[in-house]
Amino acid sequence: MMKKAAVKKSLIYTVDLTTIDGDGAFPCPKCGVIISPDDETEEVYQIVKTKVKGDELAELTLMCNKCGSKIRLTGFLPQPES
Ligand SMILES: [Zn+2]
Repeated sequence: MMKKAAVKKSLIYTVDLTTIDGDGAFPCPKCGVIISPDDETEEVYQIVKTKVKGDELAELTLMCNKCGSKIRLTGFLPQPES
């Protein structure tokens, strides 16, 4: 992984997917553009980093193309509730 000192202090927002209703789309915490995980066009956002635990996607870091914010998505792992 490359480390850029210049962007070290840039704010990273964290969005917990378990708190999101519906299809998982959520507004960018900074500029409010709707980010949908099903959107693969990379027009609204692009995936910066993925973190996998075993076979499951554990964490995803996105960058909003509109305002440049980084958004870390957590809560992919299924919650053990019944
Ligand atoms: Zn944004």
